[in-house]
Amino acid sequence: MELIIDIERGRKVAELLYSRFTEVGIHGQKGMPEDTLPAGMVKGSIEHIKFITLTVSIDYQREAPALWNASRRTFEDPDTRYLFDPRALHETPFTKIVIDMQKHKLSKKPKKDANIWRTIGVSFYKKWNGNPINFLEDCNWDAPTILKRLKEDIHQNNDRWIADFPYLRGDKIGPLWLRMLRDNVGITQIRNLGKVPIPVDIHVARATLATGVVRGLFRGRLTELYKYVRKAWFESVKGLTVKNKPMIALDLDEPLWNLSKYGCSRREKTTGFCPVYSKCVAQKFCIKGKISIENNKVDVQT
Ligand code: SF4
Repeated sequence: MELIIDIERGRKVAELLYSRFTEVGIHGQKGMPEDTLPAGMVKGSIEHIKFITLTVSIDYQREAPALWNASRRTFEDPDTRYLFDPRALHETPFTKIVIDMQKHKLSKKPKKDANIWRTIGVSFYKKWNGNPINFLEDCNWDAPTILKRLKEDIHQNNDRWIADFPYLRGDKIGPLWLRMLRDNVGITQIRNLGKVPIPVDIHVARATLATGVVRGLFRGRLTELYKYVRKAWFESVKGLTVKNKPMIALDLDEPLWNLSKYGCSRREKTTGFCPVYSKCVAQKFCIKGKISIENNKVDVQT
């Protein structure tokens, strides 16, 4: 049982997917579900930062387009817009937050999601004057420090120590947040983003396998596979450039996500037959074989 990481192939796939995504799109897509702003929101505003920060924090085990649609509707509704205000989250009873997050299907797991959302909002309110920028400044705008502080910062609540940033501190969501702050909000000050691993979810993992950048025989847990995927893209982008700047692993998040979401996720699990093969920009790298990812369990024979 062994997987290999093919760095040479990874370099070629990285160059191809990045250029195709920015020039013509992948499977007809040139954007991401988080790209559309709620009506009336100004790109780069503090409202935009809070919208991105809180919404991405519950981006786990669900369809991203549905999540971002629900979040937009929640912001556009005057009765639920307060959910994006850290001070209001602090002052509103938890039970009301649970109910209001369900109005436009923002929460999928009502109590759990409301708890994540409220805890993060209240942490920003109490420690950072309600503004995530103050937290980033305190981390000296250094990406590895930001990821470390997301994991380590805690506060006391009724004699219990709890994390300031549940889920936002996770291995996928932390890097995803930083990428969105750069690509969606337009924050340019964050340094050392090249040290941030690609935020691996099921789509990024599946596209990495389908293009043969990670291949071989493997049966095990998704989290084990994710380690290979992170390493593959971390190594593959070394020495590549985009717009006269070094390419970083985060640059491949959107192309890989779209390749799988609108392509590889439709391939037949056992044979690898893909109904969109003839139109796929990555067809010359597509490998046949079994790629099955279900309920956290992975079975790869490629
Ligand atoms: S042909 Fe299908 S499975 Fe292969 S890389 Fe393209 S979208 Fe993915």
